[in-house]
Amino acid sequence: MGHTTASERTRASLAPAASLTDVRSQRARMERMAVTPLGGGVYEVESQSGNVYSVDLPGGRCTCPDHTFRQVRCKHLRRVAMEVNEGLVPPPGEEAVACANCGGETFVEENAPGPHFCETCWLAPGEPVVDRETGDLLVVVRTTDRRADEVEISGIGVTVADYSTNEGYRADDAVVEAMYPVPAGLGPDDLKPHHLRRYSFPRGRLARRGEVTDDQSELADFAVVE
Ligand SMILES: [Zn+2]
Ligand SMILES: [Zn+2]
Repeated sequence: MGHTTASERTRASLAPAASLTDVRSQRARMERMAVTPLGGGVYEVESQSGNVYSVDLPGGRCTCPDHTFRQVRCKHLRRVAMEVNEGLVPPPGEEAVACANCGGETFVEENAPGPHFCETCWLAPGEPVVDRETGDLLVVVRTTDRRADEVEISGIGVTVADYSTNEGYRADDAVVEAMYPVPAGLGPDDLKPHHLRRYSFPRGRLARRGEVTDDQSELADFAVVE
């Protein structure tokens, strides 16, 4: 006969070696396990049975009997690898911290000095942004870890949060310092005071390019000076 039945195909795909691997993968995915990163690439895994094992992900080791006695890639190792791939726990060398602005969880290098911001909140120095209130283009100097209601605007005695055009933004928003870009072709003598000042904004007031619909083509006409 030149064909196989469905049951023959099923048996063929469940060859012994493959089936054990499949079962471990399936258990790794389906069973209740609590994974806690301990740092240095080591993760504590509490299994469904209540046993607690230690997984060394870079070393490919686990303290469970399945790994210790059979030297196999056990379900705990697989589970930790899955959770790292899915972004549920930090990869080796990184740790989970709270974003200083929104409080959301973000992964950073282990022992990196704070404050830490998530990708959404952090604006990089030199990044062009748009003031949502005026549509003006600005260039980020730095994202600070100070709150809008803590930072006083020099010369006027009110905080960034209390400044009239900032009423619609969070009082505890991180303050971002930004400058107005200098139009290309302006000489040093043509610079206006606002070109030389840093301005403080609540993070929410500054939009990334692409977050606002206004035509951004004018950006090409500007050069940035520090
Ligand atoms: Zn294990
Ligand atoms: Zn954030």
